[in-house]
Amino acid sequence: MKRAELILGRELMPLYEKVMQGKRLSFEDGLLLYRTPNLSGVGYLANLVRERLHGNRAYYIRNLHINYTNICNKGCKFCSFYAKKGGPKPYTLTMDEVRERLQSYRHIPITEVHIVGGVNPRLPYAYYLDLVRTVKAERPEVHIKAFTAVEWGEIARVARKPLAEVLQEMKAVGLGSVPGGGIEVLSDRIHAELFPKKIDGKRWLEIAREIARAGLKQYATLLYGMGETIEERVQHFIALRELQDETGHFLALTPLAFHPEGTELEHLPHTTGYEDLRNIAVARLMLDNFPHIKSFWIMNTPAVTQIALWYGADDVDGTVHEYEIVYQDDAPGVRQQVLTRAELIRLIREAGREPVERDSLYRVVSSE
Ligand code: SF4
Repeated sequence: MKRAELILGRELMPLYEKVMQGKRLSFEDGLLLYRTPNLSGVGYLANLVRERLHGNRAYYIRNLHINYTNICNKGCKFCSFYAKKGGPKPYTLTMDEVRERLQSYRHIPITEVHIVGGVNPRLPYAYYLDLVRTVKAERPEVHIKAFTAVEWGEIARVARKPLAEVLQEMKAVGLGSVPGGGIEVLSDRIHAELFPKKIDGKRWLEIAREIARAGLKQYATLLYGMGETIEERVQHFIALRELQDETGHFLALTPLAFHPEGTELEHLPHTTGYEDLRNIAVARLMLDNFPHIKSFWIMNTPAVTQIALWYGADDVDGTVHEYEIVYQDDAPGVRQQVLTRAELIRLIREAGREPVERDSLYRVVSSE
């Protein structure tokens, strides 16, 4: 019996044939990948694709996150970040505070500043332009990845201009690409239950198309563990895959584990390592036209990320520095969250992969 047959068994062998021939997996295949107890088999298949695309390389980036405001009028039930009674205190960073934060990291080489925040209706269009300009003025060499689709909807609203025009104006002041997020999972049911005030899936896809038309690259995410079904997750992957066929502008997808503490869904359990690995592996297999699958260590721990490098992930994200959306040690108030470059390299090497520093567009910065 061949090695693949031993690992995959009769249940997954038909998928092996498809994967080896580079054939697209169907909705039913996606469900099977979620339902089978043979997680090692799913990981084996995902690793075949991962190594075909990236060999032994595992990418990381040196980056800094700026969460410019936690004031938000959307009230998503899964969110612990936005300011509310009994929760985080409201803040909006001034340009001086943004400058100070960047200056406090001036001795640290970074290639990317990642900017996201709440939907704060009091912010004028000029604030967003100033934010990008300020970061660019302080760190002219960095790539600016900014604003999720829901923020882009808000920016166009306050600018009173078509989104296409706003995107061009933002590009002119320094915008480089657009992060994922802003939809969590493309499901009308989940949208109605958990984040009805936020843009729906149809609008999210329209905004993503506009971002592609503006000549910008974009990232995508799946937030899992908040009550969505496996059918909804597979459908999410298929909708993104179809859009990518059309635009080719997505660089990577990150499956993000839901953290219930501080949210309205606190009764839900944490995701497990088993689930985290499965979501990464299924994403790799279903998203055959996405170049990269990322395991974001803040969301699923550095330990799971190491194993994920053998379950379809080729990227561990970055050094991060400050991240206020979710706390990796689940200790609200501890804003500093960082893995140094040396720690990331060690994490990757220890997992048997070859570390490669990348920039935001996956160009190689250094082969260590
Ligand atoms: Fe606001 Fe985003 Fe949190 Fe929803 S997820 S409440 S849009 S900050």
